[in-house]
Amino acid sequence: MPTTITHAVIGAAWAKLFPKQTASWRIYLGSIICSVLADADVIAFSLGIPYGHVLGHRGLSHSIFFALILSFVVVFCLFSKLKLFSGTWWAFVCFFFIVGASHGILDALTNGGLGIAFFAPFDNTRYFFPWTPLPVSSIGLSVMAIRWKLRVLLYEIIHIWLPISMILMTVHIAGCAFKRKT
Ligand SMILES: [Zn+2]
Repeated sequence: MPTTITHAVIGAAWAKLFPKQTASWRIYLGSIICSVLADADVIAFSLGIPYGHVLGHRGLSHSIFFALILSFVVVFCLFSKLKLFSGTWWAFVCFFFIVGASHGILDALTNGGLGIAFFAPFDNTRYFFPWTPLPVSSIGLSVMAIRWKLRVLLYEIIHIWLPISMILMTVHIAGCAFKRKT
């Protein structure tokens, strides 16, 4: 996995796509939950569940199915005032589904560990993309694991955080220019 901090940053970046008038803490919280929660499955290691098991790390919690269920739960809990099954309600479900699914996509771009069980619980085959440019983060809190995490984080700041910031800035500047014209 990329580091949890980077998953959270990506979640916040998704939320940042909303215009200022509609962006709210609920959108930020929901996006961060959807982008980070999948890695709660590392608890499987301490429960003795094998890595390759459907409930193991990068298994069910990284699947498209889990992202879909999570998107419903997040909208149901954080946007309870929205009319059920209204257009806006479905739009939020779609948005949080994409945010949740992006976790597995990002993990499938890493160069270590087992692949992602995108189609769990129906099929536990693990997948990587053919291109895996991201260094995999370590699991655990040993000195060596933390050192490696920091190295990976530095790499991610340069190769993920910076490009995302530039994209968001460009979108923001383009949005401001468009507003001035209209
Ligand atoms: Zn992950």
